[in-house]
Amino acid sequence: MSAMQARTSPEIPSASLESLRALALDAGATDAVVIPAKDVLFDPRVRFKCMVPKCYMSGACAHCPPLGFTMQEVRDSVLSHGYAVFFKVEVPARVIAATGLAGYINTGNLDPEGCVLALGAYYLLVFSIVKRLQKKAGEMGLSSRAGFAAGNCRDALCHFQPLCGEIAGTGCRHPDLSSPSMESCGMDAFSMAARMGWEVFPIGGTCRPESVGHGTLMGLAPVGGRDAAPPAVLPRPQKPDLGLGQAKKSLAASRQAGFNLGILLRQGRDARTWGRFLANLADLTGSWTAAGAKLAHLFSGRPRKTS
Ligand code: SF4
Repeated sequence: MSAMQARTSPEIPSASLESLRALALDAGATDAVVIPAKDVLFDPRVRFKCMVPKCYMSGACAHCPPLGFTMQEVRDSVLSHGYAVFFKVEVPARVIAATGLAGYINTGNLDPEGCVLALGAYYLLVFSIVKRLQKKAGEMGLSSRAGFAAGNCRDALCHFQPLCGEIAGTGCRHPDLSSPSMESCGMDAFSMAARMGWEVFPIGGTCRPESVGHGTLMGLAPVGGRDAAPPAVLPRPQKPDLGLGQAKKSLAASRQAGFNLGILLRQGRDARTWGRFLANLADLTGSWTAAGAKLAHLFSGRPRKTS
């Protein structure tokens, strides 16, 4: 009997949990495990780290502390499920520890080497794996009411927008992809990874590619047994505006952020990650055409006011 099988309970067959774990790997995770929900570790210091010292995104994204769900709400939700698929996505050091990367990220700009955009692909992959797990659990008649990704959704999903839609009062643009991060909810993902034997390198603004092995982004999808309510249906995104006026605004916003053809061409080394993310989008939206429209929606925006 494998370690994962030993942890399963009668209400969810081990084969179902194993197929969810396999889905995470197929969707692009570097590794994935199924754990009892009670093994999800919480530590209030993790959530506080977003606020003290204040992260550039603290309060600027609806999912980032001090906004978002309380630790108690999240803990109650996770524990009500019974199990969780916990996964990691490794990011090459040349991307996540590129020189000067933090400065570009903190100011909402793209670096000429294309590392900010490439890093976005790895974060998008994590968001999409969480949603694929929740979707698959629903199709299997299981409950997965909340999922947890890595980082903030503002940089990954609304990079070219001047404000988070929830904070601006116009609603979330991407409820079909957005999730709070594990860390924003006070989950101690690093300690959980250590328990799994995963090697995690802390990455700070002064790191250099040669000083770390790789970056590690983690995500979690709680899974529960069949419940009285029908399985959760993933929310629909806002309808994208694909008109000429919006296209002009998006172009201006992307130029303002430093986007150019050179950055696009430098995505070659991370093409596999972009491809996996697009395949996940095709699964989530139902077709490659819809995935393309969704990608355009993710790249749409409006220039920031500069004075
Ligand atoms: S996806 Fe965009 S609009 Fe939705 S919560 Fe995240 S930043 Fe806000």
